[in-house]
Amino acid sequence: MLAGYAVHVEDSRGRRHPEPMHPYRNEFQRDRDRVIHARAFRRLEAKTQVFTRRYSDHFRNRLTHTLEVAQISRTIAGALNLNVDLAEALALVHDIGHPPFGHAGEKALDTAMRTQGSYFDHNLHALRIVEAFEQRYAAFPGLNLTFEVREGIIKHSRDYTSSEHPELSEYLLHERPPLEAQLIDLTDEIAYNTADLDDGYESRLLSLAQIRGGVPIFEKFFPEVERLYPDTQEKLLFNEALRRMLNRMVSDLIQNTKARVHSAGIRSLAEIRGYAERLAAFSPEVEAERRQAKDFLHENLYYSPSLAGEKIDAERVVSELFAFWMKYPSSLPGAYQEKAHEDTLPRVICDYIAGMTDNFIIEQYERHCG
Ligand code: MG
Repeated sequence: MLAGYAVHVEDSRGRRHPEPMHPYRNEFQRDRDRVIHARAFRRLEAKTQVFTRRYSDHFRNRLTHTLEVAQISRTIAGALNLNVDLAEALALVHDIGHPPFGHAGEKALDTAMRTQGSYFDHNLHALRIVEAFEQRYAAFPGLNLTFEVREGIIKHSRDYTSSEHPELSEYLLHERPPLEAQLIDLTDEIAYNTADLDDGYESRLLSLAQIRGGVPIFEKFFPEVERLYPDTQEKLLFNEALRRMLNRMVSDLIQNTKARVHSAGIRSLAEIRGYAERLAAFSPEVEAERRQAKDFLHENLYYSPSLAGEKIDAERVVSELFAFWMKYPSSLPGAYQEKAHEDTLPRVICDYIAGMTDNFIIEQYERHCG
């Protein structure tokens, strides 16, 4: 039974290009499937999350991170009686607009665009992918997703104003997104804070002692795990504490969101949308713990000297390729040269680079700048 404040698929504002109903999949299930079958989705497999392939083939990449966000989102949406199909579709699409080389690639692309008086934003790029770049259907460009999925792509992680982004005005920018979209940003945090501790530990860039000393939400569980499993190898104890940390964050998000919705007296989706703030949230205590874990990862992993070399390489590859195509646009593939008649050259180059995998951009770099 869906909650009264969940998104009900039969109330969807529908697709840009109307399509007949499917006999046994609802509209959000179809959107989930369209995302999974998109090229940009498959390319997530070869995009860096935090660690490049140099470290290990079993560390997270953008695709496996995305699958973890989808799994956690389904659990939370189900426990809150929200629309699980919509939450799943939003989780699967949430990182589809990310460029190669993780955060470093994103920063470099944004910096390159700023030299041209513009910028790069991965949510806006994701919308362009599903609206225009994916070419799968004869009847329309893009994936022709429902309004609610497109709205969630734009609004799950931040607020855009219609004065800054008049082109987004159809997405009800003055309203909060549904809870299904609100929770994606927090689920993303749960997924990467735990996964990055895991991969950081396995890579030996983070030690157990360091994590125990710097991440209170992890340390909270470690003594108990040691007591329960004496004489057990360290990695398994680490795993046991980490899954308890993940469970604590998920349970807290479910309970605290439920309590906030209840105390706000919310009964309908319209009230979720009209409420002054987002209602999906951790409790203040777990929010502080989340912050500590995130700060720890920033200080000890994301900016660790061991990863610095690859970051510098990523920035060089992105910025030099961007500059190369600005100077020699005739070296772009034909389809992109044509796009430059309708859009500005920097935006076309930016779109091209943002779609690339780590492997492909390195090939391009070696061919043009190597
Ligand atoms: Mg993510």
